[in-house]
Amino acid sequence: MLKTEKEDLKPVAAAKVEQITAQLQTPSDTKAFDSVERIKEGFIHFKREKYEKNPALYSELAKGQSPKYMVFACSDSRVCPSHVLDFQPGEAFVVRNVANIVPPYDQTKYAGVGAAVEYAVLHLKVSNIVVIGHSACGGIKGLMSFTFDGNNSTDFIEDWVKIGIPAKSKVLTEHGDKPFGDQCTYCEKEAVNVSLSNLLTYPFVREGLVNKTLALKGGYYDFVNGSFELWGLDFSLSPPLSV
Ligand SMILES: [Zn+2]
Repeated sequence: MLKTEKEDLKPVAAAKVEQITAQLQTPSDTKAFDSVERIKEGFIHFKREKYEKNPALYSELAKGQSPKYMVFACSDSRVCPSHVLDFQPGEAFVVRNVANIVPPYDQTKYAGVGAAVEYAVLHLKVSNIVVIGHSACGGIKGLMSFTFDGNNSTDFIEDWVKIGIPAKSKVLTEHGDKPFGDQCTYCEKEAVNVSLSNLLTYPFVREGLVNKTLALKGGYYDFVNGSFELWGLDFSLSPPLSV
């Protein structure tokens, strides 16, 4: 009986895992990082200090969410927007990915991001989409470093960050003579602008902008100097004429 055989294997597998775990936990490891304990402690702290101290907020959030912001931020562990901008639960609908990129509207390639933008704009009716870049971004460094000659050295990263190639091209044209580190800093900001213009390829985003129910903003968090920049989307396609 296959079922019985499978069931019999379970205790064996469990015992094996226990044995390996026991082997790994040598006495000198007693103070080693305990990933489960860290999560338990984190939640206990949150529950005591935040959840139980703000019953009004959490009972309101239990009914639903109506965030004013949709935020794109990098997956980088140092740039959590809730931390940096002190967003409280319910304030920001967040997408985080490598290099805080908004890809152009594409129902087959980028359904994950598309679903988030659609949900935020059409259902949650956020009034702002903010794309936040940051200093020392590994994804942008990759964008500036990869050759994009068709011989990919990564499974996903090159294909993803190449969405920012227009930013790279602009930086190389305008700052080609600058050191690589400076070019990366320029690109961290230019890539935000590419994402803002990519947002315009989503019909419901364009509609929100035309109806003035939605605004797009670019942001840049510099964690080396501890500063934050915010700018609006410039709709003009050419420099304004002086009269
Ligand atoms: Zn990053």
